[in-house]
Amino acid sequence: PTSGWPPPSQKSLFELRDRLVYRMPTKSPDYQLVLIAPRASLPLRMNGMLWLLFPGSVLAACCIGWLVLQLILQRRSMSSELQNALRRGELQVLYQPIIELDSRRCVGAEALVRWRRPDGSLTSPDLFIPLAENTGQIRQITDFVLQRVLEQLGQLLRSHRNLYISVNLAACDVMVPRIGRVAARLLALHRVAASQIAFEVTERGLIDVVVARDNLQALRAVGHQVLIDDFGTGYCSLAYLQTLPVDCLKIDKAFIDALGHDAASSGVAPHIIRMAHDLHLRVIAEGIECEAQAVLLNSEGVNYGQGWLFAHPLNARQFAELVTRGRQPRRARIDDEP
Ligand code: C2E
Ligand code: CA
Ligand code: CA
Repeated sequence: PTSGWPPPSQKSLFELRDRLVYRMPTKSPDYQLVLIAPRASLPLRMNGMLWLLFPGSVLAACCIGWLVLQLILQRRSMSSELQNALRRGELQVLYQPIIELDSRRCVGAEALVRWRRPDGSLTSPDLFIPLAENTGQIRQITDFVLQRVLEQLGQLLRSHRNLYISVNLAACDVMVPRIGRVAARLLALHRVAASQIAFEVTERGLIDVVVARDNLQALRAVGHQVLIDDFGTGYCSLAYLQTLPVDCLKIDKAFIDALGHDAASSGVAPHIIRMAHDLHLRVIAEGIECEAQAVLLNSEGVNYGQGWLFAHPLNARQFAELVTRGRQPRRARIDDEP
């Protein structure tokens, strides 16, 4: 450099206005290795641009933070709303008939929970069940559903000893033996047989298969049926399925939808059905919406079905009417009622 040399400090990097000088001592005190490079214009311009980007990034970070906070607050408020809903009795249970495909006779029903808010709007279980599973409120919901089933249908179940109601269990219900004790107490109170309450477990619910197996076995030992729900959508391996104490597979609606439409997946349902038969399991097809599906499934050896073709979820009175008079109630849907 023409000016400012030798540099006053011993620092190895020396910055001039128009160039950068890097000095490296050698073994000889008389010599230094010096690297001089012009200050590149690009990094300088980049620096300027980075300063421009800075407020934008801060703003974006604030927005994302605010959205996350809102989400947390919303979840927290929904979970406390759900707690209030349980206390105020805003949850109700509907019953979707399960039909024997041969005779079209109703053999039972699946209990499905609904949350009707004071303004009359319905919140889908797909929204609040996953939340309740995270917060642990699902145990209260499962207990509530069991209690409501026996309160509303105890009489009907006592007079129709072959009729059964199946109740959905969450993962945490399967991992501890609690639900068996709750069911035993309620069944004794309402004088209903354990065989008239079935439990539906999803493959996702079988987090620890060994623990689940013991608890499911205990439920079966006292007479409950155990059903694998949404079969085919989870990760339950066939090896596990063979050792799980279950009575029945429910084929997920996705496979039923594909019947006769989607060549790639319409082949899956018959395989599941054959496999279930090989394992001596009964099969219930879910989400049957048209007659052609019912006929096809029946010809494949499926004995039972559930879906809008037969009935939407009904309230207790409508379901009792269907069972006792053997006919569809006048209003098939309760979901539209105020
Ligand atoms: P899921 O157990 O697979 O229940 C079947 C769902 O499919 C129900 O929806 C039912 O109304 C609907 N469905 C039945 N037939 C048809 C049909 O032909 N077409 C169509 N498009 N849909 C049909 P829902 O009642 O909204 O329940 C959604 C999910 O919420 C349930 O799926 C279940 O995973 C969960 N859930 C509902 N009630 C309970 C409960 O009491 N406890 C627990 N743990 N989960 C529940
Ligand atoms: Ca179910
Ligand atoms: Ca299902």
